[in-house]
Amino acid sequence: MTDPAPTIGVLAVQGDVREHLEAITRLGCRAVAVRRPSELDDCDGLVLPGGESTTIDKLARRWGLAGPVRERIASGMPVLGTCAGMILLADRVLDGAVDQQTFGGLDVTVRRNAFGRQVDSFETHLAFADWDEPVHAVFIRAPWVEEVGADVEVLARVSGGAADGRVVAVRQGHLLATSFHPEVGTDDRVHALLVQMVVGARR
Ligand code: GLN
Repeated sequence: MTDPAPTIGVLAVQGDVREHLEAITRLGCRAVAVRRPSELDDCDGLVLPGGESTTIDKLARRWGLAGPVRERIASGMPVLGTCAGMILLADRVLDGAVDQQTFGGLDVTVRRNAFGRQVDSFETHLAFADWDEPVHAVFIRAPWVEEVGADVEVLARVSGGAADGRVVAVRQGHLLATSFHPEVGTDDRVHALLVQMVVGARR
């Protein structure tokens, strides 16, 4: 392999940016915090982190990032959206704030803060179809996916409890999204899947 390591950006307007940068670096890629459009130009892939989707939306628009991110999504750049980032990737949002916008691209309807107040943060193990070991998943005021379009592949559902069967990880071509926070801890399989998508897209 003579290609240089791919460059993967993390949208760095608000939220848990550092943990994603660390995961990307652990996987041998160049990790870049993206605060301006010129930094996005360098990226072969992008992570939209968890945080507060309404804040990320507002700041991304104010900083002139929303348009360029949308264009890169539309032109096939691989993107991983986690928690708030999943909301930002979704084409449709339920229980969003007034005027809340998303970058879109992922043909799903997500419900914001879907798990409710009593259990707004929790941890569980999720079975992923392609992986032998379940993923230890941390949910923090997370959305779930309420409807998926025809081209969307469901990767994981919650098992047990009041949210049994709810969809919490999806993929549609170059777009990957999780309701939980894969950047917490050192299980890098979700990020590794993004890297694989980025390497595949460069070929
Ligand atoms: N509840 C947040 C939102 O609506 C998401 C929470 C998170 O990313 N941990 O954006």
